[in-house]
Amino acid sequence: MTTFRTLDDIDLAGKRVLVRIDINVPIHDGRITDDTRIRAVATTVTEILKKGGKPILVAHRGRPNGRPDPALSLGLLRLPLSQAFSAPVTFAETGAHRTAGDWADAMEPGEVLLLENIRFYPGEETNAPNFAQALANLASVYVNDAFSVSHRAHASTVGVARLLPAVAGRQMEAELIALDKALSRPERPVVAVIGGAKVSTKLDLIGNLMRKVDQIVIGGGMANTFLAAQGHDVGQSLCEHDLVDTARDIIRKSAAANCTIVLPSDVVVAEEFAANAAHQTVSVDACPFEAMILDAGPRTVADIIRRFKAARTIVWNGPLGAFEIRPFDAATNAAATAAAELAASGRALAVAGGGDTVAALNASGAADKFTYVSTAGGAFLEWLEGKTLPGIAALQSNEEEFA
Ligand code: ADP
Ligand code: MG
Repeated sequence: MTTFRTLDDIDLAGKRVLVRIDINVPIHDGRITDDTRIRAVATTVTEILKKGGKPILVAHRGRPNGRPDPALSLGLLRLPLSQAFSAPVTFAETGAHRTAGDWADAMEPGEVLLLENIRFYPGEETNAPNFAQALANLASVYVNDAFSVSHRAHASTVGVARLLPAVAGRQMEAELIALDKALSRPERPVVAVIGGAKVSTKLDLIGNLMRKVDQIVIGGGMANTFLAAQGHDVGQSLCEHDLVDTARDIIRKSAAANCTIVLPSDVVVAEEFAANAAHQTVSVDACPFEAMILDAGPRTVADIIRRFKAARTIVWNGPLGAFEIRPFDAATNAAATAAAELAASGRALAVAGGGDTVAALNASGAADKFTYVSTAGGAFLEWLEGKTLPGIAALQSNEEEFA
């Protein structure tokens, strides 16, 4: 297990605690349309309050590129956060002739301070030493509860973690434990499902996974490139014809690494990319010239479920078909439901992540039963690619320095 400290390992009473959180929620016309991330940070913040700490929240919203942008202020998150914590939250408004330090000095016990969008400051994304130091000066302890931004070496994820005793928040801790169980020390066999639109966005991922898992099920649009590599005609399907050699190379290298690549044996095809388009199921060697492959067929799904049942660990990124349009969500739904049931009954550990994957699993109703669903997007993918996430590395080296 990679080592890092948690809220259990540090004294918080009476201390100001700088907490990096991810509350980059979708907001339309001033209304939050999905508050999952806000509810998710409550565990860590309320625990800090309960232990007598004074939480100072650091977060970003959008991409203001180091300049203040009123449209991306965090001010409108003050009330929802206060409701989620059942505690008063003060917003450290800028331009009120008060510095962040002044706001921090004025904090009362039981109160939470929310700083303005940290990406308004140019030193955040460049990880400028003086900016990291200014952040560190606000508190005496640092908590990173934002796995989803930890693939970025910013002042609030890396710089400050080198200057203060740094620990993982509860969400970060849960994510690191789940991911560690799924890939670093998994129970075998491990079956990975890699789907989605394009092979080109998932080359590093496949390259890393083939060394770690026993089988890789390839689905979605990217399977078409592999089918083409095997000499099948894929008609009008989404297919990266320039990557056919790369696909062959992946199949060859996987075999050498003792990892089985599993491709569809049947597919669902249609002549238009539209909901309820006329469709038929065909064998992979019989895609009509006018048609495109939009989902895996029932024989393929049965094969995937059989592999899931023999697995102890399932790792999933990318839908098996064009899940946004019915009925081409069928394979994704059926396989997700099977994985979810295996996880719920304790027969397998099932971990999934990726922007569209989370949407697909939510739509199938299977997400809740997965062992862990990561909403971290880019950070989850980098982790699947086997990369070291700088924000996590900073927590680990901090463990040595401040221990
Ligand atoms: P994630 O965001 O989870 O990493 P991707 O972005 O790689 O997933 O892929 C999701 C997209 O792939 C979806 O928009 C889906 O419609 C598309 N897709 C899946 N299968 C096909 C297919 N056969 N043809 C075209 N698009 C597909
Ligand atoms: Mg996507």
